[in-house]
Amino acid sequence: MTTQTDQTTFNDLGLSQPVRQALDLKGYSNPTPIQAQSIPHLLEGRDLLGIAQTGTGKTAAFMLPSIDNLREADNRTPFKSCRMLVLAPTRELAGQIADSAKDYGAMAGLKVQSIVGGTSVNKDRNKLHRGTDILVATPGRLLDLIDQKAFNLGSVEILVLDEADQMLDLGFIHALRRIVPMLPDDRQTLLFSATMPGSIKELSKNYLTDPVHVSVTPAATTAERIEQYLLMVQQDEKQALLQMILQGRYDTPGELERVLVFARTKHGCDRIVKKLAQANIEANAIHGNKSQPQRQRALNDFKSAKVPVLVATDVAARGIDIPGVSHVINYELPNVPEQYVHRIGRTARAGKDGIAIAFCAEDERSYLKDINKSTDAEFERLPLPENFRAVVEGVGPTKPAPKQQRGRVQAKPRAGAPKRKHPSRAGKPNRGQGGSGEGGGQGRPGGGGGRNRRRRSGGGNGGGGGGGNRNRQG
Ligand code: AMP
Repeated sequence: MTTQTDQTTFNDLGLSQPVRQALDLKGYSNPTPIQAQSIPHLLEGRDLLGIAQTGTGKTAAFMLPSIDNLREADNRTPFKSCRMLVLAPTRELAGQIADSAKDYGAMAGLKVQSIVGGTSVNKDRNKLHRGTDILVATPGRLLDLIDQKAFNLGSVEILVLDEADQMLDLGFIHALRRIVPMLPDDRQTLLFSATMPGSIKELSKNYLTDPVHVSVTPAATTAERIEQYLLMVQQDEKQALLQMILQGRYDTPGELERVLVFARTKHGCDRIVKKLAQANIEANAIHGNKSQPQRQRALNDFKSAKVPVLVATDVAARGIDIPGVSHVINYELPNVPEQYVHRIGRTARAGKDGIAIAFCAEDERSYLKDINKSTDAEFERLPLPENFRAVVEGVGPTKPAPKQQRGRVQAKPRAGAPKRKHPSRAGKPNRGQGGSGEGGGQGRPGGGGGRNRRRRSGGGNGGGGGGGNRNRQG
């Protein structure tokens, strides 16, 4: 959901020629709002508290001016230490930030390394022996190396705490309490968080000095380019519903390209993937019990759309930047409302629109209420497929979906697809009736298939459970 600013250019922000050249190579023409608001202050060496979700371009917002500041200071790459330390909550996010840093710093001659848990600590020790200019790390692995006296923080000029709210949620506060006092006092400190709970305010009070405050969305407001839908469905019906969606037997809003499914637990993810496999739907799971190579493979398969269905826990999916996640499906609602914001923020990235579909069972209503209350989320409620219960039980009459409704997850976006249309369908038949029975419509996502259209806002539902439609436009 990077929205570029119309007026400001990268030239106006005071960035150096090498950095601007790297941006040209990346094809960025204008800064995003968080970049326009942060970069001038950061170039002056100010501390910063940034409230921004992933997808807003915040990585470049902190990386670009930092690269220039490091070049300007021109200090030597320190032995067994670094000049800029970026702490991130997850391995995937750390890898992504390091990749961006390499791209943005391509012309600046700065050395970038990343270290994360789940990989060989010996390799990390070796690669950091000669030090690095920029280090992107998860807190645990950094402390491992510090404890082994293989690394120290005495030369850090810039500290970035990225996705700080998530770091606290994951219990990294203890690690931060150990790490930050090891840093020089005269460093520049940047703290980014998608939400602003009291704990983040506290953290910023302790770690930042007279920070500039930059916020690109009000705290915990859900991303504007994301259409949010709700399906009230019993817990034991969720798997069937998911399968119908992925097989195109239930006509969901939007074009299914890559679908990120969230479950609350690792076990839950594995169970969903296993059942999808039984229905011939290929999917990968990504969670903390998977090895780093497995996680990377799942991500690569998803990015290349080889396996366009990824089932993830909150932790594992945090910070994943994959342009082209068309749908986020909340198979289970998160019990922490802010997680909902993080989850749906995986779609609508890089200027695209996105669709979030929440499955809510009876016993999750209180979570839904919390999400509504604290995130401004506005859901359009969708009806369950016609005859759904019968289909779930495998005894229902099967009514084949019209051909064009048999869409499956498509590997390629439909060229020229209208982006945000909600054509009025008053008087037209319900599109949620794609139940073609358990035996029908099976196939592996990624094949061709029909096209799904965006759902209108408004009534006319033939299936059960409709009503209460409030579609967020914008
Ligand atoms: P982030 O919020 O840092 O994860 O960035 C989200 C996505 O936006 C990434 O794919 C970036 O490569 C992309 N991006 C960042 N800044 C810009 C920009 N100024 N113009 C276009 N795309 C950008």
